[in-house]
Amino acid sequence: MNNNPSVLEINLSAVAHNLNFFRDRLSDSTKILAVVKASGYGTEAVSLAKTLSKQNVDYFAVAYVDEGIALREAGIKIPILVLHPQINNLSLIVQYQLEPNLYSKKILASFLEISKKSNLTSYPIHIKFNTGLNRLGFKKSDLDFLFDTLYKVKNIEIKSIFSHLVASEDPNERKFSLNQIQTFNDIGSAFKSLFGFKPMMHMTNTSGVLNYPEAHFDMVRLGLGLYGFANDPVTTSELKNVISLKSIVSQIHRVGKNESVGYNMGHTASKELSTATIPLGHADGFYRSLGQGKVFVSVNGQKAPIIGNVCMDMIMVDVTDIPCEEGDEVIIFDSQQEILEIANQANTISYEILTAFSQRIKRVVY
Ligand SMILES: *Cc1c(COP(=O)(O)O)cnc(C)c1O
Repeated sequence: MNNNPSVLEINLSAVAHNLNFFRDRLSDSTKILAVVKASGYGTEAVSLAKTLSKQNVDYFAVAYVDEGIALREAGIKIPILVLHPQINNLSLIVQYQLEPNLYSKKILASFLEISKKSNLTSYPIHIKFNTGLNRLGFKKSDLDFLFDTLYKVKNIEIKSIFSHLVASEDPNERKFSLNQIQTFNDIGSAFKSLFGFKPMMHMTNTSGVLNYPEAHFDMVRLGLGLYGFANDPVTTSELKNVISLKSIVSQIHRVGKNESVGYNMGHTASKELSTATIPLGHADGFYRSLGQGKVFVSVNGQKAPIIGNVCMDMIMVDVTDIPCEEGDEVIIFDSQQEILEIANQANTISYEILTAFSQRIKRVVY
């Protein structure tokens, strides 16, 4: 049982709308991989994956093996790419029919060993190429090594080769991105002339899909866009908001002039105030840096600023001019603009805000 009244509401029909927004911008032959790592960017991966399966996405991607296992155990049947598997859980990959990204010589060798021991035939694997991010992947110059290592191996099948853009959302880095795309095209051609076939190729994340149509290749990897965020306010406004955070007023205080509110006298009243205490704090992923008037919540349709410091389990807001009672609903955010404003005030990006909400906050899917 979860008594915490703060809930994250996840709007699955908004996810379907967002998926179709991007689908309309792809050619019919381009496949869609939905990225549902980190519990679906902090939402709820299983419900999300079920919705997206019904919408006929072609692939899912997760970061780690256990995220993929959770989807398989929930009955998800479509292919699941594990972006960052570790050597010690490769046998689980096979057991749950997950598809590994093999990004280094070491993990490739380990997987080949397992594939031989288990007598696998044509087991789908994916090879990542590093074209500038310097995070995971082989270099173009490793192609000969890959050919020597993989060409005659019947245990596996190279389902795709892929790469990742460094700054797909940043028009100032356009030259760098185009250079990465060129390198990846070269890798594709060189692969084909060595191996005699071309596996699926994919490179773009959400902002890459929008900014680099020439890099859609055979499949695109959509993450943030599914959750309602594009590169710019205009495109974002065409997407639907997926995630809303709601809570209630726990207690209302009258605070006299010169009295303080919260830890370390975070706020001192310059006149008589009414404050509402809300059960949401930095332990829930609501950062301490959002206190001190930086962010507003909505109480009965009116904006109430957070005053004083964010506590571990609570915030206090100024409701002096807002008629409200203990138990009334509080909307922390229910639009992409508010999430972006929170990210901005916390000096971070929407990705971090979405994935920071702790498991103490109940997810309600509708
Ligand atoms: C997380 C991730 C994505 C999704 O990126 P978005 O910007 O959220 O669309 C795509 N590809 C890889 C390799 C990733 O790690």
